[in-house]
Amino acid sequence: MQFIDLKSQYHSSRELINSRIQAVLDHGQYIMGPEVAELEGRLADYTGARHCVTVSSGTEALVIALMALGVGPGHEVITTPFSFIATAEAVLLVGARPVFVDVEPGTGNIDARLIAARITPATRAIIPVSLYGQPADMHAINRIANRHGLAVIEDGAQSFGATYRGLQSGNLSTIGCTSFFPSKPLGCYGDGGALFTSDEALATAMREIRIHGQSRRYVHTRLGVGGRMDTLQCAIVLAKLERFAWEVEQRRRVAAAYDVMLQPHVPVLACQPDRTSVYAQYTVLVDERERVREILDSAGIPTAVHYPLPIHQQPAYAHLAAGERYPVSEDLAARVLSLPLSPYLPAADVHRVANAVLRAAGVTQGGSIEPVEELG
Ligand SMILES: *Cc1c(COP(=O)(O)O)cnc(C)c1O
Repeated sequence: MQFIDLKSQYHSSRELINSRIQAVLDHGQYIMGPEVAELEGRLADYTGARHCVTVSSGTEALVIALMALGVGPGHEVITTPFSFIATAEAVLLVGARPVFVDVEPGTGNIDARLIAARITPATRAIIPVSLYGQPADMHAINRIANRHGLAVIEDGAQSFGATYRGLQSGNLSTIGCTSFFPSKPLGCYGDGGALFTSDEALATAMREIRIHGQSRRYVHTRLGVGGRMDTLQCAIVLAKLERFAWEVEQRRRVAAAYDVMLQPHVPVLACQPDRTSVYAQYTVLVDERERVREILDSAGIPTAVHYPLPIHQQPAYAHLAAGERYPVSEDLAARVLSLPLSPYLPAADVHRVANAVLRAAGVTQGGSIEPVEELG
């Protein structure tokens, strides 16, 4: 069993992926070839945002979003300490300071009720993360941001394809960022990412920053980066988009089966009724995590921990939050455990994983949990 099964995905779309790659090799426009604009059009349509700008990674998307907004030294950006490091890293890379706000225990997403207390005259933006594939409470976050004149950048690296109150992730705030890292719900075969916005001026800024701040060839009107997504990677995402809607359905099928079997017995980070998740991860909370992992591992079931140490406790970041405690993030970091999930995971494997989790968690809680009957 694979934690994320990219091989089955490739085999199910092999001809399409191969022919898209071959087309790039044939035309030879490896940088800014026609597939780049084609993908940007498809992704903008998908999200409903007016503009999409592809970039070299999800991390670069966050950096470019902050640069386009003019966030830099002397500024503060409010974000969550319970995320992949890139979220806070991007803030530091542009010279600004991340200010952390703890997360909700039920979703692992930033707790909107705690944001206002951390806004200062130096605050410029809020970066909520759509953790594990589920958007944060974007309505509440946008309302606070509007009241204080702040931008909202959705870190949607894990959530392309998710929705919040009927709107697509990427199109939920001032700017949306996503990643096409291979293991994300929509991945390429290398590094890639995208920015979304419906603001014309920001879109222009992001397009220019992506290519060294260039407004015309060799005319550099602002500071930029080398942040293009290459044509081959765009071609691969275009091929994978053909099956993406089906894959998202299958991800939800797997998650729904896990929900039925696990939710009554084990705490899980659940999807809220006004949202949908693409389940970049299906994550349960367990005590004695290492013991549970060992039991699952010996049953041939791979698991992962996203993330074992919150950002405010990372060696290179601890000075930013000296003495500050984020108890929910710290508790989640100690207990989260992500289970195998991919669109190609057979139902029998889902049941095997869920039963093994129930048994392992039961062992650590005194053997009180019985395995569940196989579901049809
Ligand atoms: C993966 C990820 C990123 C970074 O994306 P890359 O494409 O790997 O640079 C940023 N934020 C979150 C929440 C992620 O999961």
